[in-house]
Amino acid sequence: MKTAAVRGFRDILPEESALWQMLVTQARTSFAAYGFSEIIVPILEKTDLFARAIGETTDIVEKEMYTFPDRDESSLTLRPEGTASVIRAYIEHSLHQKEPVSKLFYIGPMFRRERPQKGRYRQFHQIGAEILGRDDPLIDAELLLMLHDFFVALQLEVTLDINSLGCPTCRPGYREQLRAFGESKLAALCEDCHSRLNRNPLRLLDCKKDGCRQATAQAPALADSLCDPCRTHFTSVQERLRQEQVRIVVNPRLVRGLDYYCRTSFEILAEGLGSQNAVCGGGRYDGLVEQLGGPAIPGIGFAIGVERLAMLIQAQNRDFATPPEVFIAPLGAAAEHQAFAVARRLRSSGYRVELESGGRGLKAQMRRADKLAARHVLILGEDELAAGKGTVRDMQTKTDRPMSVDLSLATPDLMNAIRNAGN
Ligand code: AMP
Repeated sequence: MKTAAVRGFRDILPEESALWQMLVTQARTSFAAYGFSEIIVPILEKTDLFARAIGETTDIVEKEMYTFPDRDESSLTLRPEGTASVIRAYIEHSLHQKEPVSKLFYIGPMFRRERPQKGRYRQFHQIGAEILGRDDPLIDAELLLMLHDFFVALQLEVTLDINSLGCPTCRPGYREQLRAFGESKLAALCEDCHSRLNRNPLRLLDCKKDGCRQATAQAPALADSLCDPCRTHFTSVQERLRQEQVRIVVNPRLVRGLDYYCRTSFEILAEGLGSQNAVCGGGRYDGLVEQLGGPAIPGIGFAIGVERLAMLIQAQNRDFATPPEVFIAPLGAAAEHQAFAVARRLRSSGYRVELESGGRGLKAQMRRADKLAARHVLILGEDELAAGKGTVRDMQTKTDRPMSVDLSLATPDLMNAIRNAGN
């Protein structure tokens, strides 16, 4: 009997992993330009961390975490998101004492036991970034600009949905307004919204069900309840982004699932992803560091879903394969022996080389070289090789060019000889 992967857990096969490499490399490049450094945190944490950071009443903590007892009965959880771990590490290593502002990014798998569907998995990956230490609008704008630049570098046109979720001064009043509004529409709301109403009324706004959306269409907007400092902050973030021609849309229904968000909150939605259309989400979380036992230090961050980002790029039909520069086709056992040495020398200098073995004929080898999209094929026949000769087939022009194979040549010269054979 064959064993299949666990439901909701995927293999990323070579054809897709080339694209992933490109995404991750681009993230590292884009984020480095803004002064971010990578932090690598564990995949497993004490359960308590997520319960405290994400909030006991969230879907994630209530029903989606992979939680299990360790052998000493302490409760462990596979991380459902990255921010909690980053902040735990930030506090544990007193990073705030080392630098006034920390700009950190992470890349890695997350685990949530959601119902799997296209674009939604139980193990998925996020590229995330956090800025800890400052709460001024410039920081929010800078983080969003970096995010924008990353998408532009990937040739993806996106719009940023943004909203302000207020702060502990202005949000409680709004929550009450929204709760009262929800009570007045009770009959039209779904069961989930009934329970949201008491526990986290803001979530009424992001229910996806048509009935609930209609019922809350006239709900009071948080923007109208913001206190002056929150309003000024929000306006200033928008001004800076517009000044840099970032496409933003203020979306008053944008609330985030996690309890810790405040003020600037944002999401990138993309067409072509079906119902799971959020490719990135994030926001400011000024109380979180303190809530996790650290000093009162503000923060803001985002997380991009790598699977969904990869789907968007796949839709562009771009090619990220890295074909071999040289395919070596030996004809006969003695040639194979020499081909082995040539391949080794080129590879150890960093050239991508594919070597055929198994004594197949030239035709079969050529078919394989074609399939791999090799740029050059170096054909080594026994008689020719004895005379120090080989043939290079240029796979773009489909022409054969003789070359002398001097195995004593230094590697770059050998590579140049292959590239310039016949000239
Ligand atoms: P969140 O941490 O929920 O704000 O998610 C941030 C981003 O991660 C989302 O915008 C998605 O792109 C991605 N994401 C979240 N959950 C999943 C999942 N179950 N499967 C795939 N991607 C996900």
